[in-house]
Amino acid sequence: MTDAPTHPARRSRLLVLAGPTAVGKGTVAAEVRRAHPEVWISVSATTRPPRPGEENGVHYWFVSDEEFDAMVEQDNLLEWAVVHKAARYGTPRQPVELALASGRPAMLEIDLQGARQVRETMPDALFVFLKPPSWEELVRRLVGRGTENEEERERRLVTAREELAAEAEFDVTIVNHEVHAAAEELVALMEPSPTDS
Ligand code: 5GP
Repeated sequence: MTDAPTHPARRSRLLVLAGPTAVGKGTVAAEVRRAHPEVWISVSATTRPPRPGEENGVHYWFVSDEEFDAMVEQDNLLEWAVVHKAARYGTPRQPVELALASGRPAMLEIDLQGARQVRETMPDALFVFLKPPSWEELVRRLVGRGTENEEERERRLVTAREELAAEAEFDVTIVNHEVHAAAEELVALMEPSPTDS
């Protein structure tokens, strides 16, 4: 290696945050971004259009179907999935590798299908399941969005039940009682343990 840094950092361990639809993964990740700028959070590529206030390169890389196809073909994604049967989402591979190599605490916030793929390719990552305080609370959050019709809501509830059952596949569970507390629990998992030197 000719370009090794003078003080090589220890490679960090990737944290993968997943959980059921509407549990608040995105909100918890946003709180980590706000309160802990030292944590590197992957910016996913997606084929869905930006929502008001979302910026390219900050919240997502907003790409066309063709661009997404090219990323898949060139094996540039660590994982990818179709979410809510609507759009494709994927994690660009190289930025993750760079963040881990630099020793920075690093995390992905992705759906369950994506987390299962990362478990196959990076079994050493730490898999964290974000769980709602109760089933009733998850239903309230799903319905509370008010953007889906009855049929769509039913479908999402069925999916949510299945997704909750995935908890056993994860290393750690965090209950999302309150966003800031959940974000702090998450960051604590990324810090080196006192026995690490
Ligand atoms: P939204 O469109 O509301 O921002 O996100 C919808 C879902 O896509 C969330 O459950 C989020 O976790 C998931 N998601 C975001 N980025 C990725 C990604 O890179 N890969 C996968 N598999 N899921 C993602």
